[in-house]
Amino acid sequence: MIALHSTRLGPAAGGCRLWQYASNGDAITDALRLSEGMTYKNALASIPFGGGKSVMLSDGSPVNTRQLHVFGGSMNDRQGRYITAEDVGMGIAQVREIATKSAHVSGLGESGVGGAPSPMPAYGVFVGLKTAVDLHYGSSNLHGLKMGVQGLGNVGIRFVCAGTNKRAALLHVDDINPQRVAEATTFYGAAPYSPEELLDQTMDVFVPCALGGVGDDQVAAHIDIQVIAGAANNQLANPTAGQILADRKILFAPDFVLNAGGVISVAHEIMSVLGRLGVVHDPKEWVASRVAAIAERLRSILSEPNAQALPPQEVAIARAK
Ligand code: NAD
Repeated sequence: MIALHSTRLGPAAGGCRLWQYASNGDAITDALRLSEGMTYKNALASIPFGGGKSVMLSDGSPVNTRQLHVFGGSMNDRQGRYITAEDVGMGIAQVREIATKSAHVSGLGESGVGGAPSPMPAYGVFVGLKTAVDLHYGSSNLHGLKMGVQGLGNVGIRFVCAGTNKRAALLHVDDINPQRVAEATTFYGAAPYSPEELLDQTMDVFVPCALGGVGDDQVAAHIDIQVIAGAANNQLANPTAGQILADRKILFAPDFVLNAGGVISVAHEIMSVLGRLGVVHDPKEWVASRVAAIAERLRSILSEPNAQALPPQEVAIARAK
């Protein structure tokens, strides 16, 4: 399923997610919400692309070549209005397979940047998290803060590692994959919780790096957390949850501001192919400087006068629009 939310700034860019959905309806809802988030993410990151996203329904078995080729054919039907790349469940091998059938594919990692797993999404979330902690506590030092990480994949495990390096206290983790939990507990001494239990813990910083929809109204009204800053797309199940968090003075850093590092990496690749990049001597520096700018962007959103009245998510959406 391919969802195009906006092509106003350029072709709709956003990755393809492979996931086991409970129903086709759930898959469509996910694709639509994710594509909208991509519109805001790309606009705020000043990337000349609109917002799109695709999802493939998995039955639990690995995706096969034929399915990837069929998807490549569907990409071609959009005639360049949608450009895909990796998302959850899709790695560089899969996007390279899609690229054998369609030119509208990025994240191939051929320019030395972009491609999964890239450290850039984690880097962007990390600089954003430090900014959020700084604004909330008056210091970006993570030493001694109680930190919880949900989802220990490419991005989440880097936070467990960073939390350990920065001597964050009592690192709590969860993942539906027990092997990943075992890795975090064995190598980093993190305390394991079930996905249901983690949100009952008192935490200074919660870093959601699994899938979206973690925070509904009920969760927002009950959690004992000071700062929420993570990579997962669509962390709030609905806008009212954002308002409840704001009313409770819980700092929520909008996900589409923090997690733009992945699309910034692939933007370099797409713009080179489209001939819209000009001369770039150091692609890594091009990407890294734009990802580092997430810190200032977040600070400016959280410091906007409106941010006193509106939840940060709404301020960020208004700015993107
Ligand atoms: P990943 O697939 O490597 O890791 C996701 C992890 O979450 C997996 O270990 C999975 O088992 C776990 N998980 C799934 N559902 C869960 C649940 N209900 N409870 C606990 N754990 C659960 O993905 P990633 O690349 O680390 O990305 C993490 C999140 O950040 C995703 O939501 C993704 O869309 C988003 N994001 C990623 C990038 C990127 O470039 N990697 C960019 C922007 C946003």
